[in-house]
Amino acid sequence: MSADALLPLLKSTFGFDAFRGRQGEVVDRVMAGARTLAVMPTGAGKSLTYQLPAVALNGCVVVVSPLIALMHDQLRGARAAGIRAASLTSVDADWAETRQAYRDGQLDLLYVAPERATGEGFRNLLEAQTPALFAIDEAHCVSEWGHDFRPNYRLLRPLLDAFPAVPRLALTATADKHTREDILVQLGIPADGLILAGFDRPNIRYAVRPRVSPAKQLVEFIAANPGPGIVYAPTRNGTERLAEQIAAATGRRVAAYHAGLDPELRARVQHDFVASEDGIVTATVAFGMGIDKPDVRFVAHAGLPKSIESYYQETGRAGRDGDPAEAMMLWGADDFARARMRLSELPEVRVAGERVRLNALAALVETVECRRALLLRHFGENPPERCGNCDNCLEPAAQVDATVLAQKLLSAVYRTGQSFGAGHIEAVLTGRSDERIASRGHDKLSVFGIVAGEEARLIKPLVRSLMAREALDTTEHGGLMLGPAARAMMKGETAVLMAEPPVKRTQRAGRGGASATPNPVGDPLFDALRAMRRELAAEAGVPPYVIFHDAVLRTMASERPATRSALADIPGVGGKKLEAWGDAFLNVIRQF
Ligand code: ADP
Ligand code: ZN
Repeated sequence: MSADALLPLLKSTFGFDAFRGRQGEVVDRVMAGARTLAVMPTGAGKSLTYQLPAVALNGCVVVVSPLIALMHDQLRGARAAGIRAASLTSVDADWAETRQAYRDGQLDLLYVAPERATGEGFRNLLEAQTPALFAIDEAHCVSEWGHDFRPNYRLLRPLLDAFPAVPRLALTATADKHTREDILVQLGIPADGLILAGFDRPNIRYAVRPRVSPAKQLVEFIAANPGPGIVYAPTRNGTERLAEQIAAATGRRVAAYHAGLDPELRARVQHDFVASEDGIVTATVAFGMGIDKPDVRFVAHAGLPKSIESYYQETGRAGRDGDPAEAMMLWGADDFARARMRLSELPEVRVAGERVRLNALAALVETVECRRALLLRHFGENPPERCGNCDNCLEPAAQVDATVLAQKLLSAVYRTGQSFGAGHIEAVLTGRSDERIASRGHDKLSVFGIVAGEEARLIKPLVRSLMAREALDTTEHGGLMLGPAARAMMKGETAVLMAEPPVKRTQRAGRGGASATPNPVGDPLFDALRAMRRELAAEAGVPPYVIFHDAVLRTMASERPATRSALADIPGVGGKKLEAWGDAFLNVIRQF
């Protein structure tokens, strides 16, 4: 059965009219019994690629997932759509029932942790009733290259191989090529089983600003973003301070979250946030893993993230429901200074790698070009030059023409032998001789002292900027070397425009007023629909988004369906939800 043949089931179960992105291809392979690795960004809709087959196929889909919180979140969502789902985790009390239901063929989906899945008891259970599919979620955990290696994932292979006829579907949002190849090998998936979806998250608007007064900038930003959001801060104290400041200035509910809080409080903060329609959490990066809240409207960084990968992952927690969302980062030169200091404390072997990471971040914060294009190129994609939905596309920064300076800089890198760092190159260009320069004869070069005055200030930012454009690269020892784009630049074939360095840049705080959330403000029908959603959510003991996403309520408010069948036409309204909650919402609409 092809994915297209499942479209009616997609509509009746999930309320969706079409597959999104590459979901259809993944489902096609699963239905054909082929082994597959699906790499899709967060929010792409990975879970649907096994939940839909779970409904279509005879037999149960076994989902291996590393975190109880993730499993239970998925469980709630699946059950709300009418899927017969259960989990076997340490906190589930209904083990016996679940196992029995599995044996009796009464389950569509069974979630299990890798520790459990690799045990003998579980193998026996599967031998009694062969599963329809193995879905291995967060599959990067199987690889030592991944950022989350879990030895237990390695033990899955014998289990999978014990059921060679059962198709396997591995899923992850991790992009890295190494990890991908490793997952294929570790889980016995052929190379042509890889489906790699794009990394773009077009609904997230990226902005990066110099940090001037963080509390004030964050408050302005948050004032324009009424929905739920996360503010990442580098330190525990920072999270608590910001929580107080933001709460005081905005009157909103803000909770701090970090690894130093006791586990109970942490669990409560997380639970309240997931259930809320407007909660804010100020957190260290300890927060987020395992949180599957689709309606997070903004993610702010009060300081530089650790790497582009972490930035992408952290900002990726915004807008999983596809509605507009914002990612705003504040950075200061001191972030870089601190990070570079930490480099000196690292074991030698890690320094070069960390430096590359840091330079990539520098390029992200300093570029005047499209932030999204830079991010996507980092992940190996070939995006359009402009996205139209980042700060640099929307309000281009003041630019200086550094074409000639770039030629001087590249030529200095070339003439000094492509092995020195930016400091040395700067000294050569500005004619600041010292022993190191003199002993190598660099003061005799034609590039010595050819940059003076105002321009000298642009050298360091230009280095980062040229790094972003691949005109400069770093050697494994952190020296500068020419990159693939250098030649054209040195020949004057490409112009180099760069952002005015931060000191001179007109400081703009929030983009006041331009809220990213399109939820109608002050629409009484929308508010009433939300109130109904809250009521039903409380009754069912689930977060509001499990009932319906904001987008569904918005469509209800604008289209005002009067009948069940009109309501069923709204994307996101599946059969089970229609039956359970449809009338309640129709009643609300009728009153307006
Ligand atoms: P991932 O696991 O890839 O991060 P999820 O499975 O949590 O993503 O899905 C993200 C959101 O996308 C969910 O809220 C889901 O309802 C929605 N979604 C998934 N598939 C579709 C689709 N075909 N059409 C519309 N929305 C979808
Ligand atoms: Zn852009």
